[in-house]
Parts: sequence; structure tokens; C-alpha cells
Amino acid sequence: MASISELGEFGLIKRLSKDIKINNSSTIKGIGDDAAVTDYKNKQTVITTDLLLEGIHFDLSFSPLKHLGYKAVTVNISDVYAMNAIPKQITVSIAFSNRFPLEAIEELYEGINLACKKYNIDLVGGDTSSSVSGLTISVTAIGEVDKEKVVYRNGAKPNDLICVSGDLGGAYAGLKLLQREKEVFKANPEVQPELTGYDYILERQLKPEARKDIIEFLEKIDVKPTSMIDVSDGLSSELLHIAEESNCGIRIYDQKIPIAEDTNKFAEEVLIVPTIFAMNGGEDYELLFTISQSDYEKVDVSPDITVIGHITEQSKGNFIIASDGTEIEIEAQGWNHTK
Ligand code: ADP
Ligand code: MG
Repeated sequence: MASISELGEFGLIKRLSKDIKINNSSTIKGIGDDAAVTDYKNKQTVITTDLLLEGIHFDLSFSPLKHLGYKAVTVNISDVYAMNAIPKQITVSIAFSNRFPLEAIEELYEGINLACKKYNIDLVGGDTSSSVSGLTISVTAIGEVDKEKVVYRNGAKPNDLICVSGDLGGAYAGLKLLQREKEVFKANPEVQPELTGYDYILERQLKPEARKDIIEFLEKIDVKPTSMIDVSDGLSSELLHIAEESNCGIRIYDQKIPIAEDTNKFAEEVLIVPTIFAMNGGEDYELLFTISQSDYEKVDVSPDITVIGHITEQSKGNFIIASDGTEIEIEAQGWNHTK
């Protein structure tokens, strides 16, 4: 296989983009000119960017590059779905040191292309640079939404129901498991990592999906959430964003927070209350949204959506209610069950 220095920047871009097919009619011009061109006709456009740095956002000692490419795309388009919009194009910019051979960059793009295929998005451009050390990936997604369908963080009203998709805390449990096994391996490279039986939380951490299906479901049942956000930094922090932007209070119930069996199992093993994984963990990329009570029956048919509480007046504050009825104030960081 040729080396990157033999290929040069243009050769590399050509090679990485050779199999790309344009799937969306809104993509007029993709890779290959000075800029991409899109045409959204009468729709509104949403734009979002993420920057991922090696050592800060990912650890290549346990993240396979293909998974990392996939994740870089899914976490980015999760923000588009959180606006009730449909992602259509992405750009991907990368910088990498000479520690990365062509195979590594191709693996990364295999994951990126896989996510594009699965979510029907066009990779329409990017930038490529060398770096002094490590890998940096920046993804920008562009999506479309009907003007009257866009959902912000600021529309929640008292008595609205607070809903969350899927389950929470799994990605953080997966990260803790990987970090634990890395320490064990560093201390004694003879010992094989003990990862069996934890497929679910590992997948939640390494290969998260964006909740396209939930946005499609809400469209199908004709429910427009009053507010919405994706769960990237843990439930506490996302709830507080909604409270602050919507000028309202939050009341959720500990027992209602959906947590997967594997997450509970791992939490028990490391003696941490699973609710803490859900509240303070992160990277679950589920959707947190509020609906008016009149939409409850329509939403209730989905086994993938759980009502965890309701919106109150701002003066009532933000609380999580424990199973014994104790009211605990929700804090952005360091939500502490024992307080
Ligand atoms: P310029 O010098 O005008 O910035 P480039 O040579 O960087 O152009 O890019 C040429 C084309 O390849 C552009 O369409 C650009 O968007 C695309 N491109 C460059 N780097 C990447 C990348 N890492 N992934 C996808 N497309 C890329
Ligand atoms: Mg460029």
C-alpha cells in the first residue's frame, strides 16, 4: 500500500472519497471544488460542529479507528436530530501526525462512510492537515427542517411531560469499564482485558447511534415536542439547560429513569448507584424532550420512550425525587445521591 507522503494531500483525499455517492437531492456539489453547494429550497437549515481531540475526547488505546469515525458522525448528527431536523450533509476535517499510516486514516473513513450510508448523509467536503502530535477530527453537519417544525430548548411549559428515549448511563459505564481494563493491562500486560458479558455498555461507549428513529416516530404520530436536547453531557446537565432556556422548573423521578440491565450490573460491581451514571455520565446520545400532556397517549405506544417527570414553575426549582420520597436538588456537575 502506498504511503501518505507518496500520495500527497490530493491523492489522499481522492482515495478517501473514491466510493462516495451523493444520496440527497439537496446536495448540488460535493467533494472536489473550492466549496460544496446545497439547495434547501423553502426549508430552514440547521448547522452544528463538533471538535474531537485525541487524549481529550477519545483514547485510541481502546477506541478502534473505524468505531471512532462512526462515532464522530453519529454524535454530530445527534445534535441535528435534537432540533427535530434531518441531517443531509457533513464535512469532515482531520489533522494527524506521522504516527498514523494510510491504513489508519482509511479505517477512520470506513467508519465515517458507514455512518453516512446508515443515516443517508452525504460527505461533501472537509480539510486535511498534518499535526505535531495526535489525531484531531472536526465534523460539521447540515440538516433541514420545515420552519414550523424546528424544536428549541426553550419551549417547555409547566405541566409538560419530560420524556427520554432509550436508556441512560450505559456509555459512561462502558467508558469506566474500558478505563479499568486499561489500568489492569498497564500494570500487567500478561492479563487479558475482562470485557466479556459487557457488550451492551461497550457498544454504547464505542459505537453510539443517533436517534433518527425517534424523530421519525414523532413525525409519524404528529407530535412536536415543546423542547428538545440530546443527552451528551449527562441527564442533569441537559435537564438544567431546558430549565434555564425555558424558564421553568424540573421534577423527575429516580425510579423512572430508564437504565439497561448491563449498566445496572456494572454499577453494582463498582459500587456506584446507577442513577449517578445516568445523571452525571454522558455520551448516551439519547433525546430528552418535553411534550404537552395532551400528547401523552400518542407517545405512550412507543416502548423506546419513557416519561420520567414533568415541568413545573421556575420558582419550584429543579428536583429529582428518590424512591422514598426524598427530594434532591439537581446540580449540573457532581449530582450526589448521598447529599
Ligand atoms: P482547498 O485547498 O481549497 O481547501 P482542499 O485541497 O483542501 O481544497 O480540498 C479539496 C476538496 O476535498 C474539497 O472539496 C474539500 O472539501 C475536500 N476535502 C479535503 N479534505 C477532506 C477530508 N478530510 N474529508 C473529506 N473531504 C475533504
Ligand atoms: Mg483545504
